[in-house]
Amino acid sequence: EGSNLSGDAYRHQHEITVTGDEVPSPFSSFEATGFSSEILREVHSAGFSAPTPIQAQSWPIALQGRDIVAIAKTGSGKTLGYLIPGFMHLKQCRKDPRMGPTVLVLSPTRELATQILDEALKFGKSSRISCTCLYGGAPKGPQLREIERGVDIVVATPGRLNDILEMSRISLRQVSYLVLDEADRMLDMGFEPQIRKIVKEVPSCRQTLMYTATWPKEVRKIAADLLGNPVQVNIGNIN
Ligand code: ADP
Ligand code: MG
Repeated sequence: EGSNLSGDAYRHQHEITVTGDEVPSPFSSFEATGFSSEILREVHSAGFSAPTPIQAQSWPIALQGRDIVAIAKTGSGKTLGYLIPGFMHLKQCRKDPRMGPTVLVLSPTRELATQILDEALKFGKSSRISCTCLYGGAPKGPQLREIERGVDIVVATPGRLNDILEMSRISLRQVSYLVLDEADRMLDMGFEPQIRKIVKEVPSCRQTLMYTATWPKEVRKIAADLLGNPVQVNIGNIN
């Protein structure tokens, strides 16, 4: 499946355009990724046969520790596109989760945050990665207890995370892998001030990945402000 194609041919076939310095070739199989055996086992037991185009393209870039802005529609496998490199990042620089998360994923809604958490729990289980979800419309108590217990990955809506930050009940000083999922939707929902406050608490020596379905100037602006020399990946409609 595409294994003999050069990077350019692979990208052409999948309607992918990539802009950036020295973009690595896409991975044509899960084995080519160098993911840990625990992760490969989870991926195979999920019945997946090959990376989706966005995964094939963005994994090698993300594994180099580089920033990514990906413009792609829903259903293309973006969640594992950022979660698995996040797991690998955690493997390389494991910190004490009681001092705060290492990986932070911002998501526009409770529903999406919950779906991301489910994916993280499923694929991170055998790697013993701990994660939790913070969202509004639910009591803070149990969420605060999860933070105190210590988690490697926090998936949060900007509103609730900002509330908890203002209560000084979470530290983001250890975050070194930051994901903004559905950035355009978060901006449409008016979360830009909360996002900017949250990112101010994250050290600037971090890897930042941003996903968006559309590319209007508001999204371009926040990408320019929060990402450092990102590789831009555009995925067309072919999957
Ligand atoms: P997006 O965030 O781009 O909308 P998701 O990450 O939610 O897409 O993925 C959509 C579905 O595809 C999920 O059910 C996910 O488990 C599944 N999926 C992810 N990667 C693969 C893959 N490599 N092969 C088959 N299915 C996959
Ligand atoms: Mg998604």
